[in-house]
Amino acid sequence: MDVILFGAPGAGKGTQAAILAEKTGLVHITTGELFREAIRQETELGKQAKPYYDGGQLVPDRLTIAMLLERLSQSDCARGAILDGFPRTLEQATALDEALAQEGKAIDKVIYIQVPENELLGRLSGRWNCRQCSSVYHERFQPPRQAGRCDQCSGELYQRDDDKPETVRRRLEVYAQQTAPLIDYYRAKGKLVEIDGGKSVEEVAKGLLAAVEGS
Ligand code: ADP
Ligand code: AMP
Repeated sequence: MDVILFGAPGAGKGTQAAILAEKTGLVHITTGELFREAIRQETELGKQAKPYYDGGQLVPDRLTIAMLLERLSQSDCARGAILDGFPRTLEQATALDEALAQEGKAIDKVIYIQVPENELLGRLSGRWNCRQCSSVYHERFQPPRQAGRCDQCSGELYQRDDDKPETVRRRLEVYAQQTAPLIDYYRAKGKLVEIDGGKSVEEVAKGLLAAVEGS
């Protein structure tokens, strides 16, 4: 089964993908994290992606699609994957459809996690991530047991540079202009399932599992 978790920055895609991956055994693939790792490692891809990433813009489709398809071709994705943060443009969506079709596969579901914009700002400004295992926290809504330390691996927590207010505003604009049109693309294909992402993490996780299992 291949599932896309869709939604604006801060909607809870990463948080929910981690829970769903644990419940289903499917692999969680997040393009944002793949870019952060490439930038940290200063790979050729990281160097090319960095200016776009830092500016809150989308990394060009050519680079993003190649990176994602390479990751999807790895053996741990054979049973399927949970895609978080991809696709974000129509070109990415059609490239994904074509690549899956070549293997006789198709996206099963696109779960659209809906959260009002005023809630997104508060979520992103209070987000903390683990440097080691990428677990996600929020200083008020999902605080770690010990401030600054990851519950899972005791790694150091940090705030993403692109979560500062001016970059968040740009990312939300980019989402509205380039990514939100995919809602209609997947609705027209009969793949879109909308869930209320404004509830607690546990309630959203329940709704999401029901949406995935209702296939
Ligand atoms: P995305 O991957 O869609 O950008 P994240 O999963 O990183 O979003 O979540 C953004 C922030 O919101 C994080 O700090 C996370 O702890 C918090 N968060 C996620 N889901 C909820 C929720 N249902 N209620 C409140 N806060 C949430
Ligand atoms: P995220 O962690 O999903 O919030 O993504 C962080 C940043 O990584 C984005 O602002 C983009 O610069 C880049 N990025 C992640 N996924 C994609 C994608 N599918 N297409 C283009 N850029 C992406």
